[in-house]
Amino acid sequence: MTAWRRDGLSVALVPTMGALHEGHLTLMRLARREADRVVASIFVNPAQFGPGEDFERYPRTEAADVAKLASAGVEAAFAPSPREMYPEGFATRVHIDRLGDVLCGAHRPGHFDGMALIVVKLLLSALPDVAIFGEKDYQQLQIIRRFTADLNIPVRILGGPIEREADGLALSSRNRYLTPEQRRVAVTLPDALRAARDAVRAGGDPAAASAKARDAILAAGFDSVDYVEIRDPATLDLVTAPGRPARVFGAARLGGTRLIDNWAV
Ligand code: AMP
Repeated sequence: MTAWRRDGLSVALVPTMGALHEGHLTLMRLARREADRVVASIFVNPAQFGPGEDFERYPRTEAADVAKLASAGVEAAFAPSPREMYPEGFATRVHIDRLGDVLCGAHRPGHFDGMALIVVKLLLSALPDVAIFGEKDYQQLQIIRRFTADLNIPVRILGGPIEREADGLALSSRNRYLTPEQRRVAVTLPDALRAARDAVRAGGDPAAASAKARDAILAAGFDSVDYVEIRDPATLDLVTAPGRPARVFGAARLGGTRLIDNWAV
């Protein structure tokens, strides 16, 4: 990467946790268009998993991932070990107020601090011109925009669109946890959030639309709903009246699997 920079080539970084699917590869292709060289990282970051979450069982498919990256024209893959990223004596944390406290932040304590920590480390290791993240994790994307600006990290942050299955379920490495029956239920999450989006677009009350979506998700067979909320796309403040810029966010649990999704209003 140092040599690329010396030669005046621009670099794009696409961080991932591996178990790559078409959503990740869309980001790689976007990166391809944005820079001369593309680097992908593969790291299941222990710091962003809470106790009882799926760190141990998170799918690890490194050989297949590297092959997919090569066929997407990615020039370099960086797959460090936890020890390399968090050596003995590591003591630093990164915390993001407000943006990190709502939505997933309220349900996964410490998750965004752990995510921000690794993204800061990856950005400062690779020093890319541009770094690309999916809108699938929209809150994460906004948090990354915030801390890179706050910390003067010289990188352009770019969001990529959500890739979905034919029925609308957002692609996710965690979808492979679902049984065939759960997979049939799972599509209710994007369906219900999209219905809420349509209701708010048509001038409906955001709180009523959120409540209706929550009911539909539970009625379809999800075990619990962490949140369905309509929030400002930049500040992530709750939107309480129709006609404002807004995005519908949802997270729900099906067996041991937690799924998230969002739609722009
Ligand atoms: P992950 O490996 O799940 O941490 O995701 C790595 C990057 O890929 C993140 O920026 C995600 O937002 C993005 N990503 C994951 N799933 C999708 C999807 N279905 N569509 C677009 N981007 C995605």
